[in-house]
Amino acid sequence: MSRIVAIANQKGGVGKTTTSVNLAACLAAGGRRVLLVDLDPQGNATQGVGLEKGAVTHTTYDLLVNHIPLAEAVAPTEVPGLFAVPSNRELVGAEVELVGAEGRESRLRSALAPAREAYDWTVVDCPPSLSLLTLNGLVAADHMIIPLQCEYYALEGLSELLNTFVLVRDRFNPGLSVLGVLLTMYQHTNLSRQVVDDVRAHLGGRVFETVIPRNVSLSEAPSFGRPISQYDPKSAGAQAYAALAQEVLARV
Ligand code: ADP
Ligand code: MG
Repeated sequence: MSRIVAIANQKGGVGKTTTSVNLAACLAAGGRRVLLVDLDPQGNATQGVGLEKGAVTHTTYDLLVNHIPLAEAVAPTEVPGLFAVPSNRELVGAEVELVGAEGRESRLRSALAPAREAYDWTVVDCPPSLSLLTLNGLVAADHMIIPLQCEYYALEGLSELLNTFVLVRDRFNPGLSVLGVLLTMYQHTNLSRQVVDDVRAHLGGRVFETVIPRNVSLSEAPSFGRPISQYDPKSAGAQAYAALAQEVLARV
């Protein structure tokens, strides 16, 4: 059965893109056909899988605004089984151009309908805002994964995000579920440990067992346009994302 998962948190820098790219690559490494959709105008996921955001012909913008068929927007990557719909700054315009458009929150959902046939997994990297773009990501998805950085304000903004989740589920997408909360950038400090304990105390079983460590290879890999599984497969970061992929597969 084909699954669509949105990686969302309106805070920037919490590990959404790192998780999108590396979860998608790990799922592909397990022999699945995977589509990574870059829904952030910053195009970091696009670069993370080695695509040149200035040189791509079709983007998520064309899916949302110009109604081009999914197959035309998809580009192959260097990772076997991993495909991507790239994005770039052009996507900023979609917010404005879709204001007032009918069914503006379900454009991505419609565009991704063929993905159910063509891919086992679709991973949507959302932008750092609760904007129409993120709304499109959540309306299109079966599941949401929420990365939280292991820092003092980890839970800040979470209730707002969960309110948005409830709104989307009630109004547009009754099938949407929170697959899990993912703790990222863990360091062996008292603060990180405290955050993990607090988040688990608050959210219990919704938190993935796998915790992603702060790992220098994870931060270097994007500049080589490679997921961690290719850039440094023995690293702690690679092992953590492989474990996350297993946990994700077990949860659906
Ligand atoms: P977001 O998409 O939520 O804005 P990113 O995934 O882009 O967050 O991560 C923000 C920054 O932190 C990036 O420079 C990224 O390379 C780095 N980063 C993310 N996760 C890790 C990690 N586990 N270890 C080290 N650096 C990380
Ligand atoms: Mg990002």
